[in-house]
Order: sequence, then C-alpha cells, then structure tokens
Amino acid sequence: MSNRTFYNEILIDHNSHPYHKKVLEDADIVLEGVNPSCGDDIWLQLKVKEDKIEDAAFYGSGCAISQASADLMIDLILGRSKSEALTYIELFYDMIQGKLTEEEMEQLEEASCLRDISHMPARVKCAVLSWHTLETMIQN
Ligand code: ZN
Repeated sequence: MSNRTFYNEILIDHNSHPYHKKVLEDADIVLEGVNPSCGDDIWLQLKVKEDKIEDAAFYGSGCAISQASADLMIDLILGRSKSEALTYIELFYDMIQGKLTEEEMEQLEEASCLRDISHMPARVKCAVLSWHTLETMIQN
C-alpha cells in the first residue's frame, strides 16, 4: 500500500465513521464554523475544566474533508491543555501551507493524512474550518 493510499484510507475512515460526531450534552463552549465556499457547517463543542480540554465533539454537515478534519482534530486535542491545542493548530496550518518536514508532520499523528491539501487550494478552507473554529473558542 502506498503512503497516498494509506492517507486516503484514514480520511475515508474518519468521514464514514466519525467517532466524535455527536451532541455533547454538557458542553461548556459551543461555536459554529461555516465555510460558505463549500457549504460546510459544523458546530464544535468543548468541555473545558480549568485549562484542560476534557471532552470535545462536533455535529453539522459538510464535505468529506471538513468532516474528517474535525474528527481527526478532536482525536488530537482531547485531554490536552489549551496551549497544547494551540500548538497543534499552528502545526496544522503550517502543514496545510506545505511548510512542515516529514518529521514535523508526525506530531500531527493521523491528522497528517490531510497533508496533500496543500496542493488543493480550493479545499484548504474545508480542511482548516474546524481548526479555525477551535482557535477562536480557545482564544475567547
Ligand atoms: Zn468542504
């Protein structure tokens, strides 16, 4: 299996079985993220205790990339502190802009399967939607 096939498998898996797509009844912060150019519309929900992201989930509709990206992001930031989450967000933006080395991308774990988006400018907004939404939630 080539790397490319492997990354596509991860994307397909997170799109067809999004583990974190659900309503979080006791969420502390909820924010909608919209990408009008594609029609992606997600609601990100966080449960934060002190500085730690204790739980997170999303719901809404959108293309495969926006949905898989939200699911992959939540995998990565669950149980992390806000500043750790911000570090991942910055890394993800850098990856989408094609700025990361192979080694740096490994820190993003499965979310690194979105690396090829850097060659698909029309899909960048889909991929970063949930990450922008999370960034806004953490900073406000
Ligand atoms: Zn989209």
